[in-house]
Amino acid sequence: MPVDRRDSQSTILLSVATAVPLNVVLFGPPGAGKGTQADVFAECHAVPKISTGDMLRRAIQEGSELGLLVKDTLQRGALVSDDLMIRLVGQRLEWPDTAGGFVLDGFPRTIEQAAALERMMAGRGPIVVIALVVHADEVVRRLSHRGRHDDEEWVIRERLQVYSDSTEPVLEYFRRRKTVTVLDGNRPPEEVTKAIEGAVSQAIERASNS
Ligand code: ADP
Repeated sequence: MPVDRRDSQSTILLSVATAVPLNVVLFGPPGAGKGTQADVFAECHAVPKISTGDMLRRAIQEGSELGLLVKDTLQRGALVSDDLMIRLVGQRLEWPDTAGGFVLDGFPRTIEQAAALERMMAGRGPIVVIALVVHADEVVRRLSHRGRHDDEEWVIRERLQVYSDSTEPVLEYFRRRKTVTVLDGNRPPEEVTKAIEGAVSQAIERASNS
């Protein structure tokens, strides 16, 4: 039986078989709107939002062992090691709240992380990757208004460089596997939300029929 997962306040509707979990990855450069869209998706579909940036910033704030380990890396806009990130996300994906799916924001950021995600998800339903494409000048404009600690201009530049060197190739990786839908992220947030809903619902349908 198909089940409606419907947000009470909106008309957004996603019909999926209950057996298919909503395993969604939001992919894109810093400032693409992944965090904002992940919040909306998580709320609307009652799945957990797993944001690696939030997890790391929380660890830093708490002064935990993990936080101490990654603080300097985040300040520089560099990438935390694949080993550490894969362990962190791997542990999080074992929580029972991910059984009906999740929305991942900030992972995978390297080919190695992408391959690890596929291994972790083996037998747990399809992974739906939504890539948000945003013009470079729009990214800089958005980030310079956000005011986060790592949003100083030189760190932004570094993060964009890291994105094109290490993270953008992941898009090609998912393209080859035909698990990604590329969407225009330059539009207003509500329009992007609608586009994501449509794309996820189509991808789930395709996956259920194959
Ligand atoms: P943005 O919103 O700019 O994309 P995030 O909040 O996702 O940034 O991540 C902030 C920082 O956390 C990154 O610049 C990086 O240092 C670290 N980080 C987050 N996710 C990962 C990951 N998957 N691999 C390596 N480093 C990561």
